[in-house]
Amino acid sequence: MNLILFGPPAAGKGTQAKRLTAERGYIQLSTGDMLRAARKSGSELGQRVAAIMDSGSLVSDEIVIALIEEALAANKGAPGFIFDGFPRTVAQAEALDAMLAKHGQKIDRVIRLEVDSQQLMDRIAKRFAEEGRADDNPDAYKVRLDAYFTQTAPLLPYYEKQGKLQGVDGMADVDTVAHAIAKALG
Ligand code: AMP
Repeated sequence: MNLILFGPPAAGKGTQAKRLTAERGYIQLSTGDMLRAARKSGSELGQRVAAIMDSGSLVSDEIVIALIEEALAANKGAPGFIFDGFPRTVAQAEALDAMLAKHGQKIDRVIRLEVDSQQLMDRIAKRFAEEGRADDNPDAYKVRLDAYFTQTAPLLPYYEKQGKLQGVDGMADVDTVAHAIAKALG
């Protein structure tokens, strides 16, 4: 089972991906986590993406596609993958389909976490106060939300046409959302 957790930043994708990993043994592939790890390690890639990430804009398709390609090759035989924060553009979605096909696999389900904009803003303000992530500051978050609506939301029809898209109410507490996702996955 390969699934995409889809939704704007702060919709709860990372939290739910970690639950599914613990419960089902799927591998979480978060391009945001991979990029943050690259920055922490001080690698050339990390230095290249730092300013873009802090501004709230998307890094290039080429960079994130290469990260996912490496991760898929390194985790052959995994019982499933949870894509978290990837794909974020139509080009990334097409590349993902091609990469999975090379491994004889496909995306089975796309779970869209639905959270209204006011609750997103409240969550991000709380996270910024607690964790101080540069791209959670209000200006950067606005850019991230804009990127979601202009570059990522157009992916919804891509998956809807394939009959893979399922909406889940992401406004409830973590356990209730996890239960709804489990039901959607069957
Ligand atoms: P996230 O933690 O998923 O919100 O990602 C943090 C930041 O990393 C984003 O605001 C982008 O700058 C970058 N990033 C993560 N995933 C992607 C992606 N799939 N495409 C482009 N940029 C990404």
